[in-house]
Amino acid sequence: MSSLKVSSLLTKSRGIKFSVDFLLKRSIASLSSLSETHRLLYKTCRDFAEGELKPIAAKLDKEHLFPKKQIKEMGELGLMAIDIPESLGGTGLDYLAYAIAIEEISRGCASAGVIMSVNNSLYLGPINKFGNDNQKEDFIRPFTNGEKIGCFGLSEPGNGSDAGAASTFAIKKDRNWVINGTKSWITNAHEAEASVVFATTDKAKKHKGISAFLVRKEYPGFSLGKKEDKLGIRASSTSNLIFDDCSIPEENLLGEPGMGFKIAMMTLDAGRIGIASQALGIAQASLDVAVEYATKRMAFGAPISKLQSIQNKIADMSLRVESARLLTWRAAVLKDEHKPFTKEAAMAKLAASEAATFNAHQCIQVLGGMGYVSDMPAERHYRDARITEIYEGTSEIQKLVIAGNVFKEYSS
Ligand SMILES: Cc1cc2nc3c(=O)[nH]c(=O)nc-3n(C[C@H](O)[C@H](O)[C@H](O)COP(=O)(O)OP(=O)(O)OC[C@H]3O[C@@H](n4cnc5c(N)ncnc54)[C@H](O)[C@@H]3O)c2cc1C
Repeated sequence: MSSLKVSSLLTKSRGIKFSVDFLLKRSIASLSSLSETHRLLYKTCRDFAEGELKPIAAKLDKEHLFPKKQIKEMGELGLMAIDIPESLGGTGLDYLAYAIAIEEISRGCASAGVIMSVNNSLYLGPINKFGNDNQKEDFIRPFTNGEKIGCFGLSEPGNGSDAGAASTFAIKKDRNWVINGTKSWITNAHEAEASVVFATTDKAKKHKGISAFLVRKEYPGFSLGKKEDKLGIRASSTSNLIFDDCSIPEENLLGEPGMGFKIAMMTLDAGRIGIASQALGIAQASLDVAVEYATKRMAFGAPISKLQSIQNKIADMSLRVESARLLTWRAAVLKDEHKPFTKEAAMAKLAASEAATFNAHQCIQVLGGMGYVSDMPAERHYRDARITEIYEGTSEIQKLVIAGNVFKEYSS
């Protein structure tokens, strides 16, 4: 971690006494076993989420406002390029740090969490892994400090889960690639300065004929669709990327021709740790709201926290978020140790997204009528939670990935 980023984190935390007691009181129970850097990062993200995101999350959601200023500040804190090497302007931390940071940011605002997650793992991640030096310089460095963000274009109107059936295609013409087609549901589309885009370059080879490209928004033939009107994460934009004879320089091919599907799948493995963490943030925020309300709300002469049916809900919520967190951190640590983590990331995403929807649902129940109105954050958590079971692979796809790996383990 660069001294610049450390001092930046410390500066942001100045004035708030760093106390292990305080951290242990928080719900991340196993935090005490984390390194000093991870704990400092946790504290910084938590303070930022409490001070800068939580107070405005409802307004951002209601008005569909992209949190430009906050994303810039998150960039200054080193949160927009957490595992990118310092030599490229990143923060040089590991994936466990990334998981911790996304959870805390999402606890304050799940939209900010996904904006951050897409830039870190879906945009910067594949360029850092598969890009050449020039591509890294041009497409990573300017995207590390929150000034510019990127996006990831894999899904299409005709295929989401079946990503290998991409109908967007690219043809080589002289020293350019010319792309035609539409990518759908792309997070950050309206704010992104560049995207990692997947297109078929050899149809006969099916998914092995897909290639990855780096596309700047100003390239001729590139345009955006309308902003989708979504159920949740409404402060993040979601839109089509439209390619109409979009001509891009040949040097913008990422990796080798035909490597696109592999790049996409490896990127999604890592991305799922980010979405698991976003889901954890929503699950934890729902538990926070439910506990606080239950201790204050009186019914039949006592706080509702004294009722066993409410206690059961709190126990179930707490169990789900803590077990999903262990899975998520395990996947992150395996990645950091350069061990296989595909199954573990899928498990983490499945468990954490189910924890998020379960907890948000129970949170509304604990709040009764107050859970159903936007005066309280419960209904926003409920809407935000739902997408975590869909993007970066639906829950059904996570189960396919998990089962496939389990069968492989048994047969080896
Ligand atoms: C808000 C939002 C943001 C998104 N951001 C991005 C982004 O930044 N970049 C990007 O590329 N994409 C993005 N997506 C797309 C997202 O990843 C897809 O929506 C998702 O992968 C599901 O694809 P689909 O919508 O085509 O559903 P389908 O694939 O049509 O699936 C429909 C249903 O069929 C089930 N199903 C499909 N195949 C199988 C199977 N083999 N076995 C069992 N069940 C199956 C699914 O689980 C689902 O229940 C985003 C989507 C949304 C809604």
